[in-house]
This record gives sequence, C-alpha cells and structure tokens, in this order.
Amino acid sequence: MSLADQISELKARALNTLQGTTSAADVESWRVSYLGRRGELAGLISRLPTLPAEEKRAAGQAANDAKNALQSAYDERVASIKSASRGDGEAVDVTLPGIPPAVGGLHLTRQTLYEIERIFASMGFSVFETREVESDEYNFELLNIPPEHPARDMWDTMYVSEDVLLRTHTSPGQIRAMRKYHPEPLRVILPGKCHRYEAVSARSESMFYQVEGLAVGHGITLASLKGVFQAFAQQMYGPDREMRFRASYFPFTEPSVEIDISCTCEGRGCTLCKGTGWLEVSGGGMVHPTVLRNGGYDPDEVTGFAFGMGVERPAILKYDIDDIRRFYANDLRFLQQFA
Ligand SMILES: [Zn+2]
Repeated sequence: MSLADQISELKARALNTLQGTTSAADVESWRVSYLGRRGELAGLISRLPTLPAEEKRAAGQAANDAKNALQSAYDERVASIKSASRGDGEAVDVTLPGIPPAVGGLHLTRQTLYEIERIFASMGFSVFETREVESDEYNFELLNIPPEHPARDMWDTMYVSEDVLLRTHTSPGQIRAMRKYHPEPLRVILPGKCHRYEAVSARSESMFYQVEGLAVGHGITLASLKGVFQAFAQQMYGPDREMRFRASYFPFTEPSVEIDISCTCEGRGCTLCKGTGWLEVSGGGMVHPTVLRNGGYDPDEVTGFAFGMGVERPAILKYDIDDIRRFYANDLRFLQQFA
C-alpha cells in the first residue's frame, strides 16, 4: 500500500474513532494518539522524505488533507462536548437524580384528627363517617330536640331548605350509627365538618371540625365515660393532665357534663384558662333514653355515653395558635409550619 493510501486509511479510522468519544478526557487522548507530535499521523509523515519524488507529492497532499480534516473534526467535537457540559469541561451525568417535585403536607386539622382517631382506635373505637348535609329530623328531632324546642337556640343553623340543613354538630351520626349497629353493642367516633350561622371571630368559625364519641352496651355508666376520656386526654395532652366533670345540659344526654382538663399553668393562672386553671375541651353525658330508643335500642336493656369536641381546639392548645380563622384562610405561611 502506498503511503498516500495509508494516510487515507488512518484518516478514516481516526474520524470513526472520534465519533465514539463522550468526554473531554476521551477527546484529548484521541488527539494525542492521532494528532500528537508522536501520534500515528506524525509517524507516517516522518517517512515522506524517504519517498521518490512522484510518490512524495501524492503522499504530501494526503497528509495535508488528513491533518486539516482531523484538526477540524477535533475542534468540532471539543465544542459540542463543552456545550453539553456545565462549563467545567465535564459532560453532564444524566444518571444523577433530578430535582424532586415539592410534595404537599397534611393540614393541621387532618393531622390532629388522625391523632385523635389513633388514640380512640387503641381503645377499640371505630371511625364512622356520615353526611354533612342533614335533615332536620336527624340533626334535631331524633336527638330529642323537637320543633319549637327552646334548645334549638343553642345552634344557629344554616338551612338549605325548610327540612334540609348543614349539620350543626356531628351528633346526627349517633342516630345513623345506632340504627346500623343495633341491637349489637357499639363503640364509634364520628369525625367531620360542622357548620354554624354565626359571626366569625378569632374564637369561632362558621365551619369547623368535630369528633363525636359514642358507646352503647350493657353496664355502661358515667364512670366509663370518665375512664375513656381520661385515657384520651392523657395521651392527647400529656400524662400529667387532670380532668374534671361539671354538670351541664344537652337535650340528648342525661345527665350531661362539660369536660375540663387542667391547664399547663397548673392553676397559677394564664390568659388561656383566664386564671381558672382549667380548659373546657368537651361536652358529653349518658345518652338520653329517647335517643337510644330513636336509634333502635331498648333503654331498659342498654345504656350509653356520648361526647363531642372540636378538633381545632386541641391544635390551638398544643401550638398556642392565636386565631382560629388561620386554619382555613389558606395562607401557606401558616400551613407550611405544620406540613
Ligand atoms: Zn392556665
């Protein structure tokens, strides 16, 4: 093979090899082995002076042609690798993990609800969810609050039509749960949204969450309620918290109680408890015989206790939140603190 042919063959092979380079380091070692001072092309060119004149001319032309072609292919390759890199001469590593998309977090109310559900589940209560839009019958009448009953003033109600309303409490779920489970004993909690037609302020919202608790069976007494609520309060608010019952009135329980837990100020008095040393967290009592009967149970056979509490309130106490309206104002600066 003539020297000119050998040079052409080298050019073709070098260009082919250059296609397989992927990094700046690859291209540099390619340059050294083909275009370098001791590279293959230089080796062939060094033989030029030994050739007869007629061969020298063709080989000289082939050498110039190969040198130019390899140099410009090299320049192009370097430029394309640089443009794909971050500018530090290294190629982009496509196997590196990307930037993960931001994921959402649970709302503070939902977190609190899960905490409450977890504690009651550990005591054998199941979660029973019912409708938010209720009939007057379930929201009031079956709970021992007939039309014209003065106790209706306790709940400022948003009506959808004459007989349909947005539930003012989770208590209508009591009737629905009893009608489903009777005559078997039952232990449920009923979480959900409630609505009241009232002025919104730092202390009250027109929409809020409640959790209702209900247990029906043989031998259930007010002491059962006290034991269950004590166990709940100590897990929710801390083992040192004390609890007390105060006599109260609700149409659907008899007797009825307000449930207080001791304040963290331990009686020294603070703005939260207004100096009393106690915080009101729930209302409850023994299920009224009329309500048991409406739920399908025989009040001579079984008894039950019920209680209801807000869900925002425990979170307010835990995180010292100054205004209940922050919960549903959708201000991310507030919400992201708990996500
Ligand atoms: Zn206090």
